[in-house]
Amino acid sequence: MFLKEKELFQLLNSTKRPQKSQVWGALGKAKQMQGLGLEEVALLVNCQDPELIKEMFKVASKIKEEIYGERLVLFAPLYVSNFCINDCQYCGFRCSNKKMKRKKLTLEEVKRETEILLKMGHKRILLESSEHPELSPIDYIVKCIHTIYSVKDDKGNSIRRINVNVAATSVEDYKKLKSAKIGTYQLFQETYHRKTYQRLHSGPKADFERQISALDRAFQAGIDDLGMGVLFGLYDWRFEVLALVSHAQYLDKTYGVGPHTISVPRWKRAEGVSFQPSFPVSDQDFLKIIAILRMAVPYTGMIISTREPPWLRKIAFKIGISQTSAASQTSPGGYGEGKAGSQFEISDERSLAEVVEGILKQDLLPSFCTACYRSGRTGEDFMSLAKSGKIHTLCRPNAILTFAEYLEDYATEDVKKLGWKVIEKYLREIPKKEIQRTTKERLLKIRKGQRDLYF
Ligand code: SF4
Repeated sequence: MFLKEKELFQLLNSTKRPQKSQVWGALGKAKQMQGLGLEEVALLVNCQDPELIKEMFKVASKIKEEIYGERLVLFAPLYVSNFCINDCQYCGFRCSNKKMKRKKLTLEEVKRETEILLKMGHKRILLESSEHPELSPIDYIVKCIHTIYSVKDDKGNSIRRINVNVAATSVEDYKKLKSAKIGTYQLFQETYHRKTYQRLHSGPKADFERQISALDRAFQAGIDDLGMGVLFGLYDWRFEVLALVSHAQYLDKTYGVGPHTISVPRWKRAEGVSFQPSFPVSDQDFLKIIAILRMAVPYTGMIISTREPPWLRKIAFKIGISQTSAASQTSPGGYGEGKAGSQFEISDERSLAEVVEGILKQDLLPSFCTACYRSGRTGEDFMSLAKSGKIHTLCRPNAILTFAEYLEDYATEDVKKLGWKVIEKYLREIPKKEIQRTTKERLLKIRKGQRDLYF
């Protein structure tokens, strides 16, 4: 077992009052963009010095810029069922929550939800389902995936990448997901603190070993783009950050590829649930978590959702986040009629167009890119590109091309004007002349109606 709780607590205790020189040392290491060891992470999570925390944000922003550049990948969740056999105390879908309006989408309803997301301009979906072996078995999830990929909107556009967040399961089931051509398999440990985990969970999910070894089984089934995370608020965030980094290092050492993404959900209220988090995370500490993870695992994508308010997401986009959801609904049928109950409350209710406009006003570049996954650049192949810094030369032109499609097909005149101005700016900054010329040619083709052009 990679998780050594006792050692993590000893590390946290031994770095309780870090000296300035030690923290500067850790920041110096972070600037090399080779990641951080657990001791350096412990020094940073324990650092309370406002001047040094400011420095953390600066270093994290620099790393984000160097590796991920200005692009911000957009996606939307699609919940297909909220019938659950587990009783996780913090979740709206917990089986004992009698106030929850339950729903399992028919494939026709999945099709309609997909059409609505396509009409907004989305190209990437995160399929979500609660755990129920009878009502939402893996075969149902696979049918939902095929249905989503089969939908085309009136412009001929379709969803190009489906990431999946469903319960921990067997290698056989993960093989079925793999053959359904999913992108990332995402599973949150919720909390790495075993006692807290066992106290908050009942049902099959209460099995700590099953949960913490699920990504191993997914990898063994051939899924090499893995997404991890914890639900911040369940236990001390300092311990959770150390445990997350040790999990990422374990995957890297064991399989030669670290996590594709890390998500940073913070607990949010849910209808019919009286749970209160024992370790609420302040906005300042939440931003610190993002900066420290950006420094610790520079090549792992980081995801923020609409759990967080627009003002905070804006800062997070600059200090480490590389992917974000927009215009999300957290209930099955949430985009169309017949909405069921939501898993949790969200704090950013803006439309996709409004989120895109906000990103442009930050001089960042919205992206709907799915090129790596569809070119087979996954797992180690993706990581080696990211680690060599080459991802930059692909991400920028691909973001420009997918965003140009969005502007042509879905944007208002104002967003279009602002969008093309930002595209022109980053087009000029494509370092390789050959790629710049090809991107310009492809933009002309997109203006003439061609779609789905990528590197
Ligand atoms: S967290 Fe997941 S498993 Fe737990 S109650 Fe909610 S939907 Fe079910």
